[in-house]
Order: sequence, then C-alpha cells, then structure tokens
Amino acid sequence: MTNEYQIRVVPEVAAQEDRLKAYLAQEQGIDVRTIYGVRVLKRSIDARQRQIYVNLKVRVYINEQPYDDEYQHTDYPNVEGKPQVIVVGAGPGGLFAALRLIELGYRPIVLERGKDVHERKKDLANITKTQKVDPESNYCFGEGGAGAYSDGKLYTRSKKRGNTDKILNVFCQHGASTAILADAHPHIGTDRLPKVIEAMRNTIINSGGEVHFQTRMTRLILRGVRSEECGVRLPFEGENARVIGVEAEDISHSSLLTPHSTNKEFLGPVILATGHSARDVYRYLAEAKIEIEAKGIAVGVRLEHPSQLIDQIQYHNKQGRGKYLPAAEYAMVTQVEGRGVYSFCMCPGGFVIPAATDKEQIVVNGMSPASRGTAWSNSGMVVEVRPEDVEGDDVLKVMQFQEELERMCWQQGNMKQTAPAQRMSDFVNGKLSYDLPKSSYAPGLISSPLHFWLPKMISHRLQEGFKTFGRNAHGFLTNEAVLIAVETRTSSPVRIVRDRDKLQHDRIQGLFPCGEGAGYAGGIVSAGVDGERCAEMAAAYLKK
Ligand SMILES: Cc1cc2nc3c(=O)[nH]c(=O)nc-3n(C[C@H](O)[C@H](O)[C@H](O)COP(=O)(O)OP(=O)(O)OC[C@H]3O[C@@H](n4cnc5c(N)ncnc54)[C@H](O)[C@@H]3O)c2cc1C
Repeated sequence: MTNEYQIRVVPEVAAQEDRLKAYLAQEQGIDVRTIYGVRVLKRSIDARQRQIYVNLKVRVYINEQPYDDEYQHTDYPNVEGKPQVIVVGAGPGGLFAALRLIELGYRPIVLERGKDVHERKKDLANITKTQKVDPESNYCFGEGGAGAYSDGKLYTRSKKRGNTDKILNVFCQHGASTAILADAHPHIGTDRLPKVIEAMRNTIINSGGEVHFQTRMTRLILRGVRSEECGVRLPFEGENARVIGVEAEDISHSSLLTPHSTNKEFLGPVILATGHSARDVYRYLAEAKIEIEAKGIAVGVRLEHPSQLIDQIQYHNKQGRGKYLPAAEYAMVTQVEGRGVYSFCMCPGGFVIPAATDKEQIVVNGMSPASRGTAWSNSGMVVEVRPEDVEGDDVLKVMQFQEELERMCWQQGNMKQTAPAQRMSDFVNGKLSYDLPKSSYAPGLISSPLHFWLPKMISHRLQEGFKTFGRNAHGFLTNEAVLIAVETRTSSPVRIVRDRDKLQHDRIQGLFPCGEGAGYAGGIVSAGVDGERCAEMAAAYLKK
C-alpha cells in the first residue's frame, strides 16, 4: 500500500530518512517497521521565521518496496535514414530539439562551433592560466552551451511556455539526480552537468543522429519560394524565401594545416539555436537582411558575499545554515526611476567566472557545484535596459552597447581577464576601494571606481537599488561584499522574428529561430522547452 502526505518538519528530520520514517510513523499512527520506503515528491524550505521548516510532500510505501519509476522514461527510436533537420548549436535549446526530433522519428544533425563538453574544460582553465579567451571555446560556446558550466538551476518563472516537467525528466534519464523532480528550486551543479550532457549526446548518436563539433555555421542556404520550379534563384531582398540548409566551416584545424576551404553544406530545415553570444550570427542575419529586432537586456555587475553572511541573513541565525540546510538563496527586486533593478542567476556557494567570448572583453557570470559548498555566494545585480535607452536606430544597437561596455571593462582590467571590482558600500558611497576582499573569481580582481565609469543609468540605479536591498535585508549592504564588472549577457540583445504558433521565421520557411539567442527563452529549462517546441514545428513542416 502507498499513502501520500503533506508534512512540515524541521531540517534535521527532512534530511535523514530514519528520522523521517519515525516522524511519519508517529504522526500517522503506523508501525515504523512496516514503512519500507519514503519518496520525497516535493520539497521547499520555509525560511520566513526564525525556526526554519521544510515542507515535504512524501509517498510512503507500507509493507511494499518502492516499485514505480523515479522519473518518466522517454523512448528514442532509431532514426537512421529518416528525414533530417539541421540543429545549429548544442546548448539546451539545440540538445532538447535534437532529442525531441528523434522521439518524433526525424534525424537531427547537430552543428556546434565549440568543442565537446570535456575538451572544453581545458580552454576554460586556460582563461585563468593565460588571461586569454578562445573565441570558439569558452563559458558560452561548446557542447552544452552557456548552461554547461553554470549553476544548473532548473527553474523557470514562465510555466506557460510548455512542459517543464518533461525537461527535468529527460535530465534524470541522462543521469541527473531525481532530487530535481522534488526540489522547489532544483539545480544540477557544474560538476555534474558535463556527464549529463555527454549522455544526451550519446542518445543522439546512438539513435542515428549526428553531432559535429568545431563546426561553425557561416550562412543559411536560401531559395526563392516563387521560383521553386527552377529551384536555383536566390531570393530578392525582402521576398519570401525557404531555407534548404546551412553552410558551415570546419574549424578543428588551424588554417595553416588546411589552407583551402573547409566549408561544408548540411541540408534540411534549420533550427537556429545559437545562443545570446553568437554576435557573428546576428551580424550575418542583419547583413543578409533577415528580419531581426533590437531587444531589451539587463546590465550590471556580479555581487559576491561570503556565503556564511548570506546564510546568516536568510536563515536569521548567527551560526549560519548548520548541517542540514543548503547554502541560502535570495532574490531581490526593486524599481528605480522607471527601470527594474534586480538580482539575477543567484549562485549560492559558487564561483564568479570569466564568461567573455572574445579577446578584448570582460564579462562575468556565476556557477556553483552540486554541493554549493564554496565560501562565496554571488548573483548578478542588474538594471533593465530597454532599446530606447540606447541611442541610434541600428537593429544591433543593444548588442553594440554590450560590446562597448565589455571592452571598456577589459581596458579597466589592464587588458587582461583581471576584473574591475569595488567593495559594495564603497560603490554606494562613491569611494574607491583601497583593498578588496578575497574572491572566488580566479583570474583576479583589480580595484576600480565602478561608480564612476559605468554608465550613469546603470551605476546610479544600482546604488539606489542596493540601498533598498540593504534596508530590506539587514547586513546585505556591506563592504564585506564585492562588485565585479561587468554582467552583460543576461539575455539576447536581439529577437529573431518568428510566427507565434508555427515558430517559423516570419518570412523564411523552414527556419526555426530557437532558444535564448532568438529571444524566446531565458535559462536552461525554458531554452529546452523552446527546443522541443521548435522540433515539433520542424517535424510538422517536413510532414507537410
Ligand atoms: C555562466 C553561466 C551560468 C548560467 N547559469 C544558469 C543557471 O544556473 N540556470 C539557468 O537556467 N540558466 C543559466 N544560464 C543561462 C543559460 O545557460 C542559457 O539561458 C541557456 O544555455 C540558453 O540555451 P540556448 O540553447 O538557447 O543557448 P546556448 O546555451 O547559448 O547555446 C548556444 C550554442 O550554440 C553554439 N553556436 C553559436 N554560434 C554557432 C554557430 N555559428 N555555429 C554552430 N554553433 C554555434 C554555441 O557554441 C553554444 O554552444 C547561465 C549562463 C551562463 C553563461
């Protein structure tokens, strides 16, 4: 027999199965010896009061062993010889698109400019060692995309977009802990994600799909729709068109080794899931007059506190989180002069990392291991930037604004990956920091007056926002915390226009702009959901 209960227990009971069984036996009047297993179905922490509770929904197995699967299994049939779809980008958008195509009986050909998820790791380590960024293999480019070396947070504010549970179940099928199905704020951790991503790639290949690394799409191959009978004419500017594939460059060898062209064509409808940092793709689309529009982003800094301080504040306890609670999270939001100021992508017990994608830039972001056990907790602290906040009418103006700021930051950082930084209270009070606290940012920090050189529309709003956050959470506004510049890659600066229902580009048949880079997702789960939906639409397009 199984019974389900909704209970509220102290953290030490929630964390230990024996104590949980004893609690359930006593509360429900069951003989503890008859409880064969307890499965946690939902888990959330209530830290509003001094006494912290954990809310649990549990399934109790009485006189029987847990028999049901811990996650929903998806079947991936063999798709060799089936019609193919080109998936550009192996981030969560592209990977979930490829897996869904297989489910539907189509053959995905995945093209990824970066290296596989393990090879990529060496290039990440090199950023700290050499102070240089490889433009093709970094924290944003490579198998797993921007989500691979991240915190692996798996919650999304938007449940409207599609089936988020399916995404979590697919992650479990590929090796993620089933705790992500229960936790209110699930996360995988940067140390566990690579194995999960590798398993997803193996499913694609073992089912008959293809994955090509170090293969960078350079252009779409387009045909005019009205001249389909002759099939060769290129479309005129602005005319309806059809994509028949992509041209891509093999970038695995240096040009000295392979002096002649290594361009290849891959034919089929195209799911374009190249992420928010593929600026060459945006430039190509703008030059080829393929409709895109400027989109708002958020810009600011990474804010890093000692994790113990955040635990003390959030758990209302000088001793911190103790043995049974996870590193504390926070989410802060306010409005300053008509724009949102908010915390973004909080990484408890994590690291601040160098996330630039080109040589003369500094960009920071955050990640955490599964344990969330480092001595620091960080989050992006960002200000909303709307297209009208940036001068000009170029469709790429928000992207150019990002670029200018990242380059300025690199110059302030001595033209290396050492990031400009300032203590938090000093920033609010407009004072240069004479020294900086210890930080998790491996390439190193350099003291810099961020309040002075960041654009006023950002720095002033951050200063006011921090005062509000400090009032709401006593101890949060402190010189023990450090601001590290600059956080610019919060979302895509461009939207690639597409039909709301068919998810196809407004003018180009067979082109499915997908995920965060297209402006339709923000985060791992929503990119995965969008990938699945684009796969369904590409399959429907092929069927027709
Ligand atoms: C450091 C960091 C931490 C993050 N932490 C979290 C988190 O904890 N939780 C969360 O939900 N989100 C997090 N995010 C955001 C999340 O990673 C993205 O929202 C998500 O990865 C977007 O998925 P995507 O597939 O649309 O694009 P991406 O993940 O950006 O993938 C795009 C892929 O396309 C490839 N590509 C680009 N151009 C080309 C080309 N021309 N040819 C071939 N391939 C190309 C890129 O190499 C890349 O692999 C984090 C991001 C970063 C950078």
